[in-house]
Amino acid sequence: MALFGIDGFHTTDACPLNNSKSAKLLLNAEMLNLDKISKKYKINKILGQYHSALEHTFLWIVDAEDPHLIQQFCIESGLASFNAVKIIPLITTQEAIETVKKVNPQ
Ligand SMILES: [Zn+2]
Repeated sequence: MALFGIDGFHTTDACPLNNSKSAKLLLNAEMLNLDKISKKYKINKILGQYHSALEHTFLWIVDAEDPHLIQQFCIESGLASFNAVKIIPLITTQEAIETVKKVNPQ
């Protein structure tokens, strides 16, 4: 299991709320069938999908095998067509605490 964040941003002009092309992409069958696409790119599970509508940002959290494959997922799913996307390696807070304990034993 490896956790990654998919951190996305679009402009107000590209927002599906304001742009019919983006809205169509968001609502099309490919976007609604993310499980099928995600398996193809070794994304084991989409753990969360959070959006801030007026910030025009989103953060998805996935359990995946390879960030390069997440990149391909973002292209095929249409996410990357109207969003700038960062793929961020994540650990849990508990894992961070364990790392701090190893580096700075008390
Ligand atoms: Zn938006």
